[in-house]
Amino acid sequence: MSETAHALPAGEEVQGPRQTGRPESRESVSSIGRGRVLRVLYAEDEPADAELCLGQLEAAGYQVRADVVSNREEFAACLRSGGYDIVLADYKMPGWSGGEALETLQREGSEIPLLVVTGAVGDEAAAAMIKKGAADYILKDRPARLASAVERALEEKAIQRERQRAEDSLRASEIRYRRLFETAQDGILLLTGAGVITDANPFLLERLGFSRSEIVGQRLCEVGLAAEHEECQKIFHQLQQGEDTFCDSLPVLTHSGRRLEVEFASKAYQAGDEKVIQCHLRDISERKRLEEALKLTLRMREDFINFAMHQLRTPLAGIKWLLELAARRQDLPAEPLEFVHDAHAAAQGLISMVNDLLSIRRLENGKLNLELQPGSLGELTRSVLEEVSHQIAERGHHLSVTGAEEVPAIRTDLQLLRQVISNLVSNAVKYTDPGGRIQIEMKSRDGLVCWSIRDNGVGIPQEVQQRIFEKFFRADNIQRLDTEGSGLGLCLARLIVERLGGTLSFESQEGQGSIFTVTVPQVGGETGKATPCSPGAE
Ligand code: ADP
Repeated sequence: MSETAHALPAGEEVQGPRQTGRPESRESVSSIGRGRVLRVLYAEDEPADAELCLGQLEAAGYQVRADVVSNREEFAACLRSGGYDIVLADYKMPGWSGGEALETLQREGSEIPLLVVTGAVGDEAAAAMIKKGAADYILKDRPARLASAVERALEEKAIQRERQRAEDSLRASEIRYRRLFETAQDGILLLTGAGVITDANPFLLERLGFSRSEIVGQRLCEVGLAAEHEECQKIFHQLQQGEDTFCDSLPVLTHSGRRLEVEFASKAYQAGDEKVIQCHLRDISERKRLEEALKLTLRMREDFINFAMHQLRTPLAGIKWLLELAARRQDLPAEPLEFVHDAHAAAQGLISMVNDLLSIRRLENGKLNLELQPGSLGELTRSVLEEVSHQIAERGHHLSVTGAEEVPAIRTDLQLLRQVISNLVSNAVKYTDPGGRIQIEMKSRDGLVCWSIRDNGVGIPQEVQQRIFEKFFRADNIQRLDTEGSGLGLCLARLIVERLGGTLSFESQEGQGSIFTVTVPQVGGETGKATPCSPGAE
């Protein structure tokens, strides 16, 4: 055969279906190829043999595209150009062999299966070829086997590729898992079902101050992590039972005996034949420290409020009383008398603040008892307005009140409710420029009594509206009005209204004004719903 590569599309050089002389084989293989294109690289020095074999493949249903080569250079060149499904190679050719073709294939890193097609080969030589990596061998005098051998080789290759893909993806997932394990910023500990440590990630080793070899192979209880024996023993016991565990704060000891607080969670799962217990340890020592510091600060604040309430109230009452006595003196010149009045007002302010704090504290702790009594809410509103009438007149505000006559008498803690309405009205008066408009609207609807207290004052800046009910909060925009206040009124008002079973809400726009809305249940607090009356709704 000439030493050139033959392009042999089916039906060109290889014409018509070839007979193998064994009709039953032809029938059995005719469906193998199912019309699929089969790209063949064929190392063969005998064109007639090549034709015969390729004809067998066509007869089996393949559309054969073949390159027939008879020397190693052409073989290597064709191989490099690529695109073959299968390589067929004669066992022995002048100057080279099927064995060398196989070596070339392997050297090129090709995964195309190679079948040895040979006139005669001993069993040993055939076995050696297969050992080296040939997919199969076929004797030329039994060419009918060729198609099924090709099909099998292709199938095996496909299975091998699939397996390879699965292995690659398993390896990739292992690498991902390992990276996660190595770089996690939480401690991870792996145990056998019997509680023996099999691995610990670097983060945990670093936090606990152990080397890997110091803990791997040890039982969890032997490592000395238990800071409080009972607690740890309980967890270790649960682990050994294979139970999932969670402990939001477990004290553990580091190698050097330092105590850490960790959040501990474990999960058991089956990995093949083995049971694995995976534990996660999150160091929460810093969080705990901050929580303790916060608790301490809150306790100090509470202590201060306690101090303010109990230690200041009595002397303040004494000061106020003495100032009242001083004010009554007839012989006091005008200027000192003015000082006495100012000091009296300041003492009164301080007493009010202490009283407000006391009430807030009682309400927050659920310790404020209500004194329920029936009373007219119109009357209550009128008495509040009477109290502030002096300031309203002083500032030249225009006041309108509607609905006070219509609302029914209810049973509630009138004293507390009065405190709320008084605070809201005096805020409207204080935080509105002179000559402003203050409208009070009262109505009763759906088992609720509702007050809307509207002003066209300075309003509350949008960005601080969510803070308005905080203790001691006062917005910056009221500074220019030079008003007095402690920032406790609204906080107390809201707590009171909620205690009475109602709601307190507001809408406000800086520079435009505010509207505060209070609702309380019409009968004593137990039947009302806490849905606010919408301002201005009929
Ligand atoms: P105080 O009036 O003693 O400062 P409050 O708790 O009653 O305390 O009110 C808290 C803050 O809410 C006030 O300092 C003020 O900034 C704002 N505020 C309350 N009511 C009004 C209002 N009607 N208009 C504008 N700002 C108000």
